[in-house]
Amino acid sequence: MTTDTAAQAAYVVAALLFILSLAGLSQHRTSRSGVVWGIAGMVVALAATVGLASRSITATGLVLIAVATAVGAGIGLWRARVVEMTGMPELIAIMHSLVGLAAAFVGWNGYLDVDAELSGSLLGIHHAEVFIGVFIGAVTFTGSVVAYLKLSARIDSRPLTLPGKHVLNIGALVAFVGLTIAFVARPNMGLLIAVTVIALALGAHLVASIGGGDMPVVVSMLNSYSGWAAAASGFLLANNLLIVTGALVGSSGAYLSYIMCKAMNRSFISVIAGGFGTPAAAADDGEHGEHREISAEETAELLRDATSVIITPGYGMAVAQAQYPVAELARKLRERGVEVRFGIHPVAGRLPGHMNVLLAEANVPYDIVLEMDEINDDFAATSVVLVIGANDTVNPAATDNPASPIAGMPVLHVWEAANVVVFKRSMAAGYAGVQNPLFFRENTQMLFGDAKQRVEDILRRLDALDAPVPEMAGTSR
Ligand code: NDP
Repeated sequence: MTTDTAAQAAYVVAALLFILSLAGLSQHRTSRSGVVWGIAGMVVALAATVGLASRSITATGLVLIAVATAVGAGIGLWRARVVEMTGMPELIAIMHSLVGLAAAFVGWNGYLDVDAELSGSLLGIHHAEVFIGVFIGAVTFTGSVVAYLKLSARIDSRPLTLPGKHVLNIGALVAFVGLTIAFVARPNMGLLIAVTVIALALGAHLVASIGGGDMPVVVSMLNSYSGWAAAASGFLLANNLLIVTGALVGSSGAYLSYIMCKAMNRSFISVIAGGFGTPAAAADDGEHGEHREISAEETAELLRDATSVIITPGYGMAVAQAQYPVAELARKLRERGVEVRFGIHPVAGRLPGHMNVLLAEANVPYDIVLEMDEINDDFAATSVVLVIGANDTVNPAATDNPASPIAGMPVLHVWEAANVVVFKRSMAAGYAGVQNPLFFRENTQMLFGDAKQRVEDILRRLDALDAPVPEMAGTSR
């Protein structure tokens, strides 16, 4: 068997391993094995690619590849080990930016180093691949960098609204099509520089124009773009595995974006076009009335008398790492005969499935963790809802204020319960930057402070309430 045939066979094996990996990652139970399949696929892919390349590159080239692989793998391992769960989305966004940057570099290299054997229409196809690869790569690069900055709160998560923003986006796409035709007819560096600059600006603008509430869709969309950028590089490098893998990532990311758009009642086209068709958000006048506060001790007493409790966790539970005391609270209440369930919003936290992962980590039984659609009708018959560090996902403005930036997004109807206790540190807005009228409702009380500490305070108070009352001196005789 020649090296080429062996490498192509290994590529088929790697592609199958990647498909198994995607299948595994689609469910909690099998997600760990999904990761293992993915790692195995990447090891096979790397070995086959280096084996294939070893026929045409020098020993120095091979050493350089080994050093680059070791440095890249070292940085990847280090980041993966130290990252907090709350920092995962921004880590993913910055990883996508690297895929985009690599695709843009591969495109530029394809222009500077044209295979001498290419001519006629094949040369035209090559130059179209260069142009498209640079465009997708550069859009993915700056789009992901802006997503990283938004997700890590280094810039404001509110949408940028430049005058004529949609005209700018459409103008950039039209310019791309025109420049591609011109480049295929007469390739030159000026046109390539022009498309690179346009794509960098377009990527940054598209993502900057998206509001915080729509960021989950943007992250999965950039995931998809990074896949297409890799596939474009695959065409340029004539690497079948890169084409297959890029297409797998591109299509699965696009499908995930579509599912998330449906879950959030958003138009897919509107989100990928930088919020196209979304009405400009009305200014919040900040007039919502008075809020009421409650102490941890009073909350414990409220819970002691409750018959049914729903806990709706959000990003603040992840920040506070409150999942362990929250799980303990659920266990204690269930022991007392209270019906306790968790209501999970599809975009609570900063990652799809974020809350499910945290609750599974704290050993909360799966059967009391319900999705939003499964639990939304039950709030009206619930004694107490504990909103632990959630904000946008429980905001009634989404259902009753058409001018709100999150209007139309399905939310958990927590306000229908008899009592709502909101755990947070201040009256600050959630990730979408929208004030929450829930905090000012008659049946809502705010429990301020770090969610973990407040839940621990409640646990202590519940223990104290359970403790036998010491008999008064002398009464036992
Ligand atoms: P939000 O981000 O809307 O709100 C979280 C709340 O937690 C804040 O209001 C904050 O208030 C509170 N908080 C923060 N730290 C603590 C703490 N230590 N103790 C107690 N409270 C704390 O959360 P949701 O989960 O409701 O909504 C998720 C938002 O993120 C949505 O807008 C969603 O679109 C977006 N998003 C989701 C992604 C996903 O894939 N799931 C990805 C990207 C964005 P305070 O500061 O006053 O304490």
